[in-house]
Amino acid sequence: MKTLRYTVTNHHPIYAWNNETPAVIFELHLEPLIQIFKGNVVNHHKYFSDIPKTWPRYQEHLDTVKLIEWLEQQQKSEQASILWNADLRDLIWCYARSVIYSGQYESVFCPVCAIKYSAKEGSIEDWSVGESLFAEGGKRLLCPQGHVLYAIVDWNS
Ligand SMILES: [Zn+2]
Repeated sequence: MKTLRYTVTNHHPIYAWNNETPAVIFELHLEPLIQIFKGNVVNHHKYFSDIPKTWPRYQEHLDTVKLIEWLEQQQKSEQASILWNADLRDLIWCYARSVIYSGQYESVFCPVCAIKYSAKEGSIEDWSVGESLFAEGGKRLLCPQGHVLYAIVDWNS
């Protein structure tokens, strides 16, 4: 299956937890990603088609359309693995969560171990910080040695 080679940029706050700024590299399955973004476009037309063009949500919609175009173009290429185009807005990080949590990726490189792991080797756990009304949490992906490879805030109180 065709994959997108997605290098996680260091600015993502999750990696500050263990004072590391590693470059985690995912080989994400391309097709489910495209479906996610197409779903976002459908939702936009369904629920947000009348929003002011000044809203960030509107800009995200435009960026999503651009991203789909690019992904579909890449899908037709001969390469088995497509390199992420850093000129596009990084909507991958946020929206790849279901792809990552459901193991729809080929491999993930843990820079701490310097080992490429398959989706089967990773484990998902719940995380949360804070308490009562000042809490947030979600799921995260760990390598077999317990290094955090992906995490995102799925909820906050
Ligand atoms: Zn590791």
